[in-house]
This record gives sequence, structure tokens and C-alpha cells, in this order.
Amino acid sequence: MIAKTKGIKDTKKLVGSLPAVRYIDPKYIFLATTNTRCSKFELYIKEGDHVNSCQLIGKRIGPFFEQPIHSTCSGTFIGFEKHYHRSGKLTDFIKIENDFKDTLDPSCKERTPEEISKLTKEEMTEIIKNTANVGLGGSSFPTYIKFQTNEPIHTILINGIECEPYITADHRLMLEFPYRVINGIKYVMQAFNCKHAKICIKKKYKDIKETYEAILKEEEGSGIEICPLGNYYPQGWEVEMIKNATGIKLNPGELPSKRGIINFNVSTIVGIYKAIRYNMPVIKRFITITGDGINHPKNFRVRVGTSVKELLPICGGYKNPDKEKVFILGGPMMGASVPNDDVIITKTVTSIIVLDKEEHREEPCVRCGSCVLSCPVHLEPVQIMNAVKTLDKERIKKLNPTRCIECGLCAYSCTSKINVTDYIRKAKLIAKL
Ligand code: SF4
Ligand code: SF4
Repeated sequence: MIAKTKGIKDTKKLVGSLPAVRYIDPKYIFLATTNTRCSKFELYIKEGDHVNSCQLIGKRIGPFFEQPIHSTCSGTFIGFEKHYHRSGKLTDFIKIENDFKDTLDPSCKERTPEEISKLTKEEMTEIIKNTANVGLGGSSFPTYIKFQTNEPIHTILINGIECEPYITADHRLMLEFPYRVINGIKYVMQAFNCKHAKICIKKKYKDIKETYEAILKEEEGSGIEICPLGNYYPQGWEVEMIKNATGIKLNPGELPSKRGIINFNVSTIVGIYKAIRYNMPVIKRFITITGDGINHPKNFRVRVGTSVKELLPICGGYKNPDKEKVFILGGPMMGASVPNDDVIITKTVTSIIVLDKEEHREEPCVRCGSCVLSCPVHLEPVQIMNAVKTLDKERIKKLNPTRCIECGLCAYSCTSKINVTDYIRKAKLIAKL
């Protein structure tokens, strides 16, 4: 079923394995006050205050948890400004003027290997919570909550698959910081008293395979192995990755931890490494800026809070400046579009895709069933779409749209160019009413 999607154009070669450009000193950084998980916030600083890099300056408040906000540079808090957030919403951002001194907050202290070896799972969970580690592959799910499971874990899976077209940020991270990845994995293995970890990558990433196999050869008995998987989308979806890496098939809605598995995105693992080793929050990340709409697609390592507007000139600007552009944050399949380039890199932005806008005229549904064949969770997207059109709430509920992972394959495969995924999103909202 999913094999049908193997024909998705491989646009990763636009950036390929170009080393990441370091752009870590913007004049201003912008930190979101709120996001989709937390709609309120509280600040511990006032305008004019000096802040250190990594200093705790406030918190976002949501119905289920709070997220500490840390400054990602040292400088002065000079007010608020509205910009687009990864969610696609115009949001208030805290504006900090960089003093370019990168004065580190005293809360950041390096732990010795001996100190780290004595940390319990509970202590690591607390460190990860206080340093605001979240799923950096885009999920933004708080990492400390994953750490709180009491289920026995036999295998840790590291998701380095990065299966969406265009994006190569994790690819670069894995090649440029392999020891951070491996040490981060070791800390997680220690926390869960787990003897086995697999680094999952696409099998075509031979450079990553060779790099890690060479390092792991020197670390005999570490229990860490490289696990090449399929070159298709959505190989990085956790259910698909777990099935192919371990043979374990999760039931719908089942948590991986119930089957002895815990999985983390590879960027999250590096975030965990920085938290445990240096008590540091995530203040920098790898991103990809790519797409047919810009001249020189690139990978970057940037400070969280950097404006995309600053990075576009480094990519040679727009290829066809007269043409209207489409901006997608995240991958083209699961990302969110924003109306212009006034976007800020938050912790969970993996990429910005810039495309020349093309008009797609939707045709009527021809009942080809292509969307049904493509759906990795075995839904019937066309039926859900029809139920949304007729506002048949009972039928919508029966068709289980809440199981949709918003992979975008139904829209991608639609012969009539209908944005079927949009209907499924609406159905999810209606089903929850
Ligand atoms: S977006 Fe949802 S309904 Fe459409 S193919 Fe993906 S999982 Fe299925
Ligand atoms: S793929 Fe498009 S045209 Fe085919 S059944 Fe689904 S909605 Fe209709």
C-alpha cells in the first residue's frame, strides 16, 4: 500500500549533503510567547532587562503542561513583535537585541562523566523538563513526558529517517555531530536501563551508515547499531519505523512503550545530550531552506529565534522574484504554509520550502480510490471528504478521521488534485465536537 508512494520526487538533491552554513549571530532573536500546545504565557523579565544566553525568562502555559522559555542569546529584552509562527499563525514574539557576547547563564554547568553516570532516570527527566526539551522532528511533544513511562524498555529507536521530500537538516546534523548523537543515545539507554538502540536511517544514506559504523566499531558492546530502512515516505512515521526496525506491529492508538519501544528524533537526542552534559536548553538547530523558488538551497545551523528573512539573501534570494511564492514550514507533506517570509525559526522548525505558486484547478472526484490505497492508516479519505461536504456528523465519526496522521498522501495521490487532507482535518475537528 505504502509502496505506491515510492514515486515521490526526490527533491533532497536540491541541497544534497551540502555542509550547513553557520549563521548564529543575528542582530535580534524572537521567541514565541505562545504556540499550538500552550496558549498563555508568563514573563519573568521586563523591557530593558539584560538576559543571558540560556536564561529562563518565562513560561508558556497550556492545559496539560507548561513550557519554560529560555533566551537563545545574551542581550536586551526590547519588547514584542508579531511574526508568523510554525503553526501558520501570526504570533507575539519576545524580541531580544543580541549583544554578541554570548554570555552563558550560570545555570549551564558541565557535568563530568562520573556525575552523569550516577544520574537516575528521575533526575534526567527533571533536567530534560527544566531545559524544555521537546520533539525536535516537528512534533514539539515534551520529551520529559516520554521519559516518565514506567514500562520496561528493551529497544530505543532513533529516528534519523527524515522521510519527507526536500529536508536534509537531520542528515547534516548526523554527519556533523555523530559523537553528540551517540552520547545522547547512551544517556537515554542509561535512563531506561536499556541495552539496545537502533539508529534508523534511509538505506540510501550510505555516508551516515559508513560514519556511524566506523565509530561504533570502536565502541564494541555499546548495544547501538545503525538500521537502514526503506527510502520512501512515510518510512519515518513511528508505526512504520517500529514495524520495519523491530518487526513489532503496533495496534491503532497503542503507545510504543507498551511494547517495550521508545523512539526519539535524532535532533531531540542531541537536545538531550546538551541538557544532560551541559544543563543547556536547545538554542541552536539545523534547518534546510530549499525549494524551486530560491536560487541556492542550503542547510543552516542557526540560533533558535532567527528570522527567515535574514537567511533568504544567503540563499541568493528568490529565483523568480516576480512570481508569487508559497512558503511551507516543515515538509511539503505535513508542514504548514505561511503567507509570506516573515517567519521565525522556532525549536521545531526543520525546514522552509519556498516554491513558485502554481495554480492547481481541482477537478471533480472520479472515485479512482487512489486516496484510499495511499492511506497508511487504512482510512477512506474520499468517504470522509463526502461526509464533510454533507456535514454528516454521525458518518464522519464512524469513518474514524481522528486516526489520521495528516501525512498528506491522500491529497498527493489525488488524480483530481483535490486537497483531500484538508477535508480530513475538518473531519477531525467535527468528530471531536
Ligand atoms: S492525510 Fe490522513 S487520511 Fe490522508 S492519507 Fe494520510 S493518514 Fe490517510
Ligand atoms: S483520489 Fe481524489 S479523485 Fe480519487 S477517489 Fe480520492 S478524492 Fe476522488
